[in-house]
Amino acid sequence: MTEGRPSGFDGHGPESPLDLGGIGPGEAASIVGRLSDGTMPALVDALAKAGNCVRPVRLVGRSATVDLRTGEILSSFYSADEPLGALYKPCGNRREAVCASCSRVYARDTYELISTGLNGGKGVPATVSTNPLLFVTLTAPSFGLVHGVRDGEEQCHPRTRLAWCPHGRRLACWARHDGDDPRVGAPLCADCYDAPSAVIWQWHAPELWRRFTIALRRRLAAELGVRESDLAQHARLEYAKVAEFQARGVVHFHALVRLDGSEGPGSPAPTTASGLRRCVLEAAAVVRCTAPPVDRTDVERVLRFGAQTDVRIVREGGAVADQITSEQVAAYLAKYSTKSTGVDPRRPLHHLAALMTTCRTLAARALDGCPFGCEERIADRRARRCGNCARHPYALLGRWAAMLGFRGHFSTKSRRYSVTLGALRRARRRFHALLADVRRQLDKLDVRELEEQLMAADEETTLVIGSWSYEGTGWPRAGDKALADAAASRAREYAKWRAEQRTIDKQRA
Ligand SMILES: [Zn+2]
Ligand SMILES: [Zn+2]
Ligand SMILES: [Zn+2]
Ligand SMILES: [Zn+2]
Repeated sequence: MTEGRPSGFDGHGPESPLDLGGIGPGEAASIVGRLSDGTMPALVDALAKAGNCVRPVRLVGRSATVDLRTGEILSSFYSADEPLGALYKPCGNRREAVCASCSRVYARDTYELISTGLNGGKGVPATVSTNPLLFVTLTAPSFGLVHGVRDGEEQCHPRTRLAWCPHGRRLACWARHDGDDPRVGAPLCADCYDAPSAVIWQWHAPELWRRFTIALRRRLAAELGVRESDLAQHARLEYAKVAEFQARGVVHFHALVRLDGSEGPGSPAPTTASGLRRCVLEAAAVVRCTAPPVDRTDVERVLRFGAQTDVRIVREGGAVADQITSEQVAAYLAKYSTKSTGVDPRRPLHHLAALMTTCRTLAARALDGCPFGCEERIADRRARRCGNCARHPYALLGRWAAMLGFRGHFSTKSRRYSVTLGALRRARRRFHALLADVRRQLDKLDVRELEEQLMAADEETTLVIGSWSYEGTGWPRAGDKALADAAASRAREYAKWRAEQRTIDKQRA
């Protein structure tokens, strides 16, 4: 085995400066400015406190922490005392393309949330690892032929006999596309592609998922031979799901589905993973949703999931099935939770831009002829609709054009799947407060029962009263963001290096 550091990370300390290779002259001048006017240490401090967020929220004001039992003021905080004269709060954005640092925090929390639902911990009983568990992918149906990446470097759409569409286009493609090819996901013929149905399917996808969960409960009750209304006395279904945009611009749902007994997480399940898998496949195949027509010239559509429903058994119940490990599954779902969503407005791919236009066109058709001119304001997020238009099922479709009509959440879970993101954030807040206390009192951190303390759902005994006003978003000078970017990518490399070291240590052990 080779010793030393893997490529991409050359350690910390004064010998390993930040990589500022890509910055412009304005940014460089502003960094030099910070160095010469002596405000660099203050910036470094603020960057660390904001976790290297690239576009933090700037707040000014003050707050006091009050002990609820005694009314005593435990501490006060003034933003004017902060190094840069304001409080910089991380933006907390989930999307990697918006803020690399905050999206990593989100991905870590999502990973924790998913893996505690798999293996227990943080208040979830460890016996959840004996409950049957599936990894389910529900797809969108086909709306026409699109270019795609094929397994094993197969050709895209090879045809031995030439086929032509009614628009005179050849319905074949002998290319071997890779994932970066901008043609991937684009229709072979844009005129043949049923873009309106794709958008309308997406608009109803959250409802389709909701109906799937109802159908699944119904199938499970039948499998167990109990009445649907009595199901809770025998079994509980918990899930964590993410929506992932495909290259063609429609979402797939990936979900972990766990079967618990009547006592909730960790109690013995009444059937096996194979039994549950049968129920999922049946439910996915039968679920339907009727979409009303957009206008009088349109048709009603009966929507369903695509035929490629994929259900893998992660755990049969007790034993781990060997195809995929639970860590892989948690990492996979966490990764999708931070992926960019919808369309990059700066450089939309042609076929995705066409779907955005379809969203707006359908919304305009839906509100066409309104005496109050609602259809002229379809893309305006703030504009109100008249009473009549507000009731139209497609009234808001234009507002969701950038999401290609998907208005659902990108990651959701059922209440009793595991811990919540809120509880994880509260735990982090408590940890930082504890750490500050320890530092102030030059004390040692007591790690016994630390997790229990941090995750406790009990009432807070202190109250923070404050008066804050929003001053703006982002760092004050041009070079500050470049430093945040560089520091964030250094932290990322370090985390990767640490993970690699841990793997090496594990292999040696
Ligand atoms: Zn951020
Ligand atoms: Zn192709
Ligand atoms: Zn055609
Ligand atoms: Zn109207």
